[in-house]
Formats: sequence, structure tokens, C-alpha cells
Amino acid sequence: MLTGMQIAVIGGDARQLEVIRKLTEQDAKLWLIGFEQLDHAFSGAVKEKMEDVDFSEIDAIILPVPGTNLKGEVETIFSNEIVFITEELLAKTPPNCTIYSGISNAYLNGITKKTNRKLIQLFERDDVAIYNSIPTVEGTIMMAIQHTDFTIHGSKVVVLGLGRVGMSVARTFKALGAKVKVGARRSEHMARITEMALHPFHLDQLKDEIKDADICINTIPVEVVTASVIAQMPSHTLIIDLASKPGGTDFRYAEKRGIKALLAPGLPGIVAPKTAGKILANVLSQLLTDELNKRKGKTT
Ligand code: NAP
Repeated sequence: MLTGMQIAVIGGDARQLEVIRKLTEQDAKLWLIGFEQLDHAFSGAVKEKMEDVDFSEIDAIILPVPGTNLKGEVETIFSNEIVFITEELLAKTPPNCTIYSGISNAYLNGITKKTNRKLIQLFERDDVAIYNSIPTVEGTIMMAIQHTDFTIHGSKVVVLGLGRVGMSVARTFKALGAKVKVGARRSEHMARITEMALHPFHLDQLKDEIKDADICINTIPVEVVTASVIAQMPSHTLIIDLASKPGGTDFRYAEKRGIKALLAPGLPGIVAPKTAGKILANVLSQLLTDELNKRKGKTT
């Protein structure tokens, strides 16, 4: 239970509703900022304007998955008002107030560092990344179906990267009957790809391995699908780039060559916001419980 914890939830999309639901169920007191247009009411959660919240009483601030933009603005789909997180605001919180966000950027890193507040990036955690790979793969399948006129079954799929997303993508496309090759650079990844009964190749060989690809799915967040790689693809190849913006594909050259290349960020929030929200809610609930227990341990 989170009885006694006061938490400010600032901005967000449908995923945040699962977080609010879970934390109120656990008896935390929630201040919802940037939710004026949300019809649903949660007992234990109060919709407030930023200036009406007493931040000196707040134990934790929960930001949406993207955190803030580089000016400190927080995205919220439940409000017309622009909501900002500032250094001054963080300075009003107690020193042990923790800031939770999906990812961070130079702005958010800067203000948390200057105010000496702990920032936790949930998407850096292996458990969150692995759970999130499930809706990511489902979204990838959806895109492959929408943008091709052939079945996944029997098609030649090249997956780039064997991280948390790449492994789930490769395994699922194989299970759907695709002929899957995976490009990586580490020998242990080659071993794992072989163990998964997939075809491994070193990324150095990408230009050769891509020559018969029907679908190329990139998960590597650096430009690996270069112009010279795209030049070797069959003209019908579909590129689905899952890597975080700006992706790992030379989109300009793909367009010039007439190859369909799609940058597909944020698939969990698009195809399964409820599941994506539950993933965040579960880990937040655990982290806040640990934090509360730690504080109780210190005061007893
Ligand atoms: P990850 O576990 O860190 O895996 C990244 C993969 O990229 C690893 O195989 C890594 O190989 C490889 N890699 C990194 N830098 C490389 C380089 N310079 N050259 C060759 N290979 C390199 O990350 P993840 O959790 O799978 O996520 C992958 C990407 O997808 C991230 O950008 C993430 O933000 C994004 N993502 C997108 C969605 C979506 O909806 N589109 C959802 C979730 C995640 P090494 O181990 O050899 O470095």
C-alpha cells in the first residue's frame, strides 16, 4: 500500500490512466495536473492546476513517457493548457522527492541535476523494455500487414539488432512462418540467434544479406540502413524502423529509390495503451512501495 504518499501526476496520455488507477487503488493521494478534460474521476485523485498544488508536500512526480520537451513542456492530451516543469518548481519539493519519467533529455537531466532531485527513467529498465517489446512487436506486425500485399508467412524478414526489441521481433516473425535473418555484431548474439534457429549474420555483411529481403525491421538506434544498403534491396522491400527518433535509416535515399520506409515510434502507446499503461503502473507501484518502505525504515 502507498498510504501517506502524495504524488503529482503531470500530463500524459491514456497510459497514465492505468498508472492513476493503480496508485489510487493502493491508497496514494494523487494530484492530477493537466487532466481538466478527463471525464473519469478516481477516488483519491484530485484534478488541480499546477499553481494550486503545494509541492513542498509532494513525495514523487510522475511525468509521461516522453518526459518533457527541450523547453520543459509536458505533453498532455487531457488539457488545452500548456504545462511546464521548471527548476523553480522542483526546488519547492522536499529533497527526497523523486521524479519518474519514461525517458529523459538534456532539459530534464539539467533541472533534476541542478536541484539535486533523483530522476528515474523507467524505459532504461530491462523489465520495462522487455514487457514493452510485446506491444511493440504486435504494432510491427500490424504495420507489416498494412503495408505489404504478401503474407508474413513465407516472406524473408531481416531483423537488425538482437536487443530487447530485436529478440522479440525475430522470434515472433519466425513463429508467424517468416524466414528470419538477424544482423548483429557481437559473437554472443550470433550464438543466441543460432540457438533460436534463425539465420545469423554480422552487420558488416548487411549489403549482401539484404539482397533478397521482403521486410527489413531495424531496432538499432544508429544509421545502419544506409544509402548503400538500401541500394541493394529489392524494390518491393518494406523497411520498418523501430529505433528511437531519428531511426537508423536513410529515409531520404529510401524515398529517392522508391522504397517504402516507415519510422514507427511509440507503438505500445498506439496499439495497446492499456497494456503499455499497466506495464508502467506495475513498475511504478513497486518502485514507490520500495521508496516508502525505505523511508519508513529510516524513521523507525
Ligand atoms: P537494446 O536492448 O539496447 O538493443 C539495441 C540493439 O542495437 C542491440 O542489439 C545493440 O547491439 C544494437 N546496437 C546499438 N548500437 C549499435 C551500433 N553502433 N552498431 C551496431 N549495433 C548497435 O534496445 P531495445 O530495447 O531493443 O530498443 C531498440 C530501439 O527501439 C531503441 O531505440 C528504443 O528506443 C526503440 N523502441 C521503439 C519502440 C517503438 O514503438 N518503435 C518501442 C520500444 C523501443 P550491441 O549489444 O552490440 O550494442
